[in-house]
Amino acid sequence: MEGVWGEHIRGVLEAQTRADLNRRFISVTEVRGPEIEVEGRPVLLFSSNDYLGYTQHPALKQAAREAAEVWGTGSGASRLISGNLALYQDLEDEVARFKHTEAALVFATGFMANLGLIASLVGPGDLILSDALNHASLIDACRLSRAETRVMPHADPDANAAELRKIEKGRRVLLLTDAVFSMDGDVAPLAELAELAGKHEALLVIDDAHGTGVLGRKGRGSLEHLGIDPAGIVQVGTFSKALGSLGGFVAGPGLIIELLRNRARTLFYSTALPPSVLAVNRRALALIDEEPQVRFSLHENVRLLRAGLKEVGLRLLPGPAAIVPVLIGEAGPAVALAGELLRSGLFCPAIRPPTVPPGRSRLRLAVMAVHTPDHIQRAVDLIASAARRLRVLE
Ligand SMILES: *Cc1c(COP(=O)(O)O)cnc(C)c1O
Repeated sequence: MEGVWGEHIRGVLEAQTRADLNRRFISVTEVRGPEIEVEGRPVLLFSSNDYLGYTQHPALKQAAREAAEVWGTGSGASRLISGNLALYQDLEDEVARFKHTEAALVFATGFMANLGLIASLVGPGDLILSDALNHASLIDACRLSRAETRVMPHADPDANAAELRKIEKGRRVLLLTDAVFSMDGDVAPLAELAELAGKHEALLVIDDAHGTGVLGRKGRGSLEHLGIDPAGIVQVGTFSKALGSLGGFVAGPGLIIELLRNRARTLFYSTALPPSVLAVNRRALALIDEEPQVRFSLHENVRLLRAGLKEVGLRLLPGPAAIVPVLIGEAGPAVALAGELLRSGLFCPAIRPPTVPPGRSRLRLAVMAVHTPDHIQRAVDLIASAARRLRVLE
């Protein structure tokens, strides 16, 4: 490609390479639970959000096959036209029951749920207080809404309280936070934020992509984990992580769901989900209740992995979720370590700036219920020996 566009695009890509931020897709050539093949070589998977192993669950494969057989492979139109298959109503009833909310609405992805939700709720003149470590989809949602957005220090209810005290009466404010932070694995101070929201008539919106199906005695997510009543709180979730498929949802007060049905452009200017996905998602929510032992195995695995990594002297960031960040420090060594691990058979990514602050680069391990104690021991051994070879660890 030549000319103005060719030059421009090559410039952008070269800048990306110079900053060591070039992205490359790795081709997964086979999947057998947490043992996968990458470009033809076997590796142990510690980078998937498929926390419960549900992408390979026989009951969910069965649900997908049956729905495709009965309803076909696609929905054919947006939900406002003829794509609103009855499977949606069943699924949304199930989401509301699962999350203990008045109502729920399903979107094509969690990303689209966030865009549709925030842009429907707020606009110019409104204010969003948004946690500094919020997911990219929330950041983009704030921009799309054109509301004034103030980025709050991470997990700092006092900073939110100080902002709220300054706000003139009657101004609409949204408190916006990941419930489980996707790179740090910590849980937001949701009780404090809910209290602030109540006191100042602000609306609390939480994105529980990594908590749903994982946290809480019954897998309901971060609110259950912290013992918080979901009434009045808007929860975003995804079917694409612990639930093993694809799709996003908003669960909360009926009035807000009704607003979204009327306003959320990502909901109705995009084609409805295929029947197989809707059926799988509904079945997956039921499985969370039917198979609590899968969630217990996940947490036992998290405990095992954390104990093993600590024992060899690595620094971990704390948190109750299935995300285990191993702090390395500089970006160079973190990237080198992840590369060395992939070559030696362990697939876990390095996370570096701008995704995390400078000096806080890390390996991000994601634990699955279907990891065996042997998988976990192998991961610890591989990380410890690679870290010693690269002198990241004494
Ligand atoms: C993954 C993720 C999303 C996006 O969900 P998808 O269903 O994959 O689009 C949104 N928010 C957070 C916090 C996430 O981790």
